[in-house]
Amino acid sequence: MGRDERDRIAVIPGDGIGQEVVPAAVEVLEAVGDFEFVEADAGDAVKAETGDALPQETYDLAAEADATLFGAAGETAADVILPLREAVDSFVNVRPAKAYPGVDALRPETDLVFLRENTEGVYSGHEDRLSEDLSTLTRVVTTSASERLAEFACDYVTDRADAGETPGFHVAHKANVMRETDGRFRDAVVGVADERGVDTDEVLMDAVATHLCLEPETFDVVVCPNLAGDVLSDLAAGLVGGLGLLPSANVGPDRALFEPVHGTAPDIAGDGVANPAATLFSAAMLLQYLGHDDAGERVREATEGVLADGPRTPDLGGDASTEDVTAAVVDRL
Ligand code: ATP
Ligand code: MG
Repeated sequence: MGRDERDRIAVIPGDGIGQEVVPAAVEVLEAVGDFEFVEADAGDAVKAETGDALPQETYDLAAEADATLFGAAGETAADVILPLREAVDSFVNVRPAKAYPGVDALRPETDLVFLRENTEGVYSGHEDRLSEDLSTLTRVVTTSASERLAEFACDYVTDRADAGETPGFHVAHKANVMRETDGRFRDAVVGVADERGVDTDEVLMDAVATHLCLEPETFDVVVCPNLAGDVLSDLAAGLVGGLGLLPSANVGPDRALFEPVHGTAPDIAGDGVANPAATLFSAAMLLQYLGHDDAGERVREATEGVLADGPRTPDLGGDASTEDVTAAVVDRL
């Protein structure tokens, strides 16, 4: 492949353990493919230097690269990640929560993915203080954003379905109470799925919380409005037992940004013992997004293999370093 045809990956380690786990992921990506990596700064450290947590060139890089791998930002997180998600025009947040052999989990049978609406709902930003006593929030739901999410969900489950199996997903909503907004969300999502020949199971979002705790194995792919997806995916994170393990993707129409769910972990930053698994799983999602399905699958399997057999970092009861774990994953590749 010629130089110009290589996928261009923006690499933004950020602060804290982002500086440790993102280079680990780059090392693993280099072991499975030929990519053009372009590194850029964001977060507390660059703000201290320049006064700006997200330099324009970093934003532009994310807005133009085929995919972005981001680590974490500390105090400046909101000033960094919100604009970065906007740079890729992300309309869906993909959050898998899976329990792995070798890792203590409350619910070892958990293996599901949330597809969370990423632009509207109660996170619309339309809040008002109307009087000393009264504040309001406008919940925004559009047919276009709901249908865009539904189209993505249909592609997602169709790609993953086994031959002969009818693809399907759960739709979480509260249309019995929020008849107008969640009614619109529900109608739009179910309408697209019906047209696409995809099965849908409707579930009330509060009931999802209970079912998740009691029988997480009944869920595979759950399509959610913004706030519900935020809360329920954190609940699922608790079930699988480890912030250090959860990857995520912010997907837009033409590009996407991948990041571990965890933050900068200031308590262990600089010690070289951060668990790189969440970022390695994020890198596996990045590979699949770019169409390198095989390489993505290999990275995921190698990372799972190391979780099961060791070496393990201290958060999982081991005494290995980030580098030891990364080297073991590269070895398996
Ligand atoms: P931030 O404000 O950046 O989110 P935080 O103090 O909330 O920082 P998190 O990164 O959210 O820290 O992590 C919460 C806890 O989980 C910390 O004790 C941290 O050490 C641990 N943790 C998070 N990610 C990892 C990881 N990759 N490896 C090991 N431990 C981790
Ligand atoms: Mg945190």
